[in-house]
Amino acid sequence: SLGHVLMDEIAIRRALIRIAHEILEKNKGVENCVLVGIRTRGIYLAKRIADKIGEIEGIPIPMAELDVTSYRDDVSNEKTKEQHQTFTSSFIQDKKIILFDDVLYTGRTVRAAMDALIDMGRPKMIQLAVLVDRGHRELPIRPDYVGKNIPTSKLENINVSLTEVDSDDQVVIKQQ
Ligand code: 5GP
Ligand code: MG
Repeated sequence: SLGHVLMDEIAIRRALIRIAHEILEKNKGVENCVLVGIRTRGIYLAKRIADKIGEIEGIPIPMAELDVTSYRDDVSNEKTKEQHQTFTSSFIQDKKIILFDDVLYTGRTVRAAMDALIDMGRPKMIQLAVLVDRGHRELPIRPDYVGKNIPTSKLENINVSLTEVDSDDQVVIKQQ
């Protein structure tokens, strides 16, 4: 099935503009802030927000990519901790990190991301931004910035399309 469209291009753009403003309001600017996108689509969301914040504030905000596959407790038994990071410990040391992902579900990916970051250095703070919170948390993790709360059943799946890697900007709910 094609599924049901929950966010179109305009809705996604508006949500990201709102989140950019919320980040600026909560942090009173972006001094000492860095954006970290969880691959794959979290990276593109972080890049879009970085562009927006750059437009609004007139100063660039540093951004980096994080791959947490090897830190997932339920994905990898052998914690090889092979990373595809684009940054070193000085990038996050004493910084306020705003972590980005497309969909928040059990919270295990975010926990893994926090593990990876804290292994590298000592951030001053970590905040979380997601395009979609679909519920069903298994860990005490909540996002600071949410594009849209979409209550789901565990049998449903949220399809996030972003033009950087997909044919369009769209959030669709589907039965698995
Ligand atoms: P969690 O680790 O919180 O269980 O799941 C979040 C991670 O899995 C995110 O990186 C997200 O990309 C992916 N994910 C979990 N559920 C969905 C979903 O319904 N749709 C999409 N697109 N990704 C999901
Ligand atoms: Mg993901």
